[in-house]
Amino acid sequence: MDARIAVGQISHETNSFSPVLTGLEEFRARGYAVGGDVIERFAGTRTPLGGFFAAAEEEGMELIPTVAAAAVPSGVVRADAYTHLLERLRRGINDAGRIDGVLLALHGAMVVDGIPDAEGDVLLRVREWVGDGVPIACTLDYHANVTDRMVELADGLFGYNTYPHVDGFERGVEACEFMAALLGGSIEPTRAVTRPPLAPPVVPARTGWGPMRKLMARAHSWEERDDVIDVGAYGGFVYSDVRDAGLAFVATTDGDRDLAEEITRDMGERAWKMREDFAADLVTPTEAVSRAMAQTETPVVLADVADNTGGGAAGDGTEVLRALLELGAEEAVVVTIPDPEAVGHAFSRGVGGSFCCDVGGKIDGLSGEPVRVSGKVRLLSDGQFTHRGPMSTGLQSCLGRTAVVVSGGTEVIINERRLQPLDPEVPRSVGIDPAQRRIVVVKSAVHYRAAYESLAGEIIEVDGPGLSSPNLDRFEFEGIRRPIFPLDAM
Ligand SMILES: [Zn+2]
Repeated sequence: MDARIAVGQISHETNSFSPVLTGLEEFRARGYAVGGDVIERFAGTRTPLGGFFAAAEEEGMELIPTVAAAAVPSGVVRADAYTHLLERLRRGINDAGRIDGVLLALHGAMVVDGIPDAEGDVLLRVREWVGDGVPIACTLDYHANVTDRMVELADGLFGYNTYPHVDGFERGVEACEFMAALLGGSIEPTRAVTRPPLAPPVVPARTGWGPMRKLMARAHSWEERDDVIDVGAYGGFVYSDVRDAGLAFVATTDGDRDLAEEITRDMGERAWKMREDFAADLVTPTEAVSRAMAQTETPVVLADVADNTGGGAAGDGTEVLRALLELGAEEAVVVTIPDPEAVGHAFSRGVGGSFCCDVGGKIDGLSGEPVRVSGKVRLLSDGQFTHRGPMSTGLQSCLGRTAVVVSGGTEVIINERRLQPLDPEVPRSVGIDPAQRRIVVVKSAVHYRAAYESLAGEIIEVDGPGLSSPNLDRFEFEGIRRPIFPLDAM
């Protein structure tokens, strides 16, 4: 097929409770590429953009990269940063000349200052630029808060089917193949969406377990029909605190609008019946560390689920570290605590130097008080590593300057940048094999499971403070529609 498709990415998962606003610097720190650099960064990676590139080659379509920008989840995106990225996208599409379609890798839970439905706004702008005759297809994160506007403006939406997200590449391929079929005239897609009044926290909405596993299976069984193009089941992101936050189901059929509505109704009713099953079983930091110290099957992974940078929390929470030091844990490692000040101290002392500094608890002040760590600097690193997967395999990442500090039986990996340490390559990149430790503390809600489940003797989800806590009573919601479960008794 001789088609020219503009490709772009503007991606952010916004936790509206975070006071850490997201500016252009945060996009530059995580990943911001323009034009040919987009191919350089993403071709060959297991990401949606990697999927676009791979499928386009198969289909013989020419992709014209515009901009690819993603920032680590944090607070609301600054309007000037958004305007800048949008302008980059507009210029890229404009410079591409004649195009037949647009493929976008969006998140779905981005909130811009003054624009609660940011992806709906991106799609509105792109639609204005390219007109009604040019199809738009996008990938979305599983945590997208899908709005009517998004469903109306895009010809196809392809959300991740997995949490941990291990199918970004496949969804990119699917969106690109959909584009080819649409341009070839072999399908006439029509869509429906439903949002039951249900907005669970992220931890009990993982797809390998419980209600979402059943709902994904149901979605896939609908997809077996020839006239069904796609059924998306979205966990939503309650912490965005926008009107439409929460579960959503989107059905895309080949020309049968009634069928699309029947499917979304079926999915919504099933989800609602299972609402009480979206519950997490958490233990306090002290209890978690005690249990881990007594466990013989190691390593025990202590998931600090509330302090997940991937959900917009600071990531520098200290409560589990404090418990490790107080209880005298042995062969324990904390992965990671972002704290530029403590990193600076470690670098000034050098390898083998003594270290004494308050660590963590400084970014938003909502994840516990700083902890005084006294010990030695074991290793210093530039923080570069490559994801080995199963998530984002092949993608280059950087923790910023990184130090390993040892205090008693606990190693603490302290780094400069907030980044969800979901890949065991993070500790491996500083010489620590997590399989060879007794206790591994990971700042992650669910994504760590993709790689850690197979190496962990036991996983314990810890009830610490932080902006991704499954305990929604800790938050004061203002924007989300009410009544909604579990915020309201229903
Ligand atoms: Zn997600």
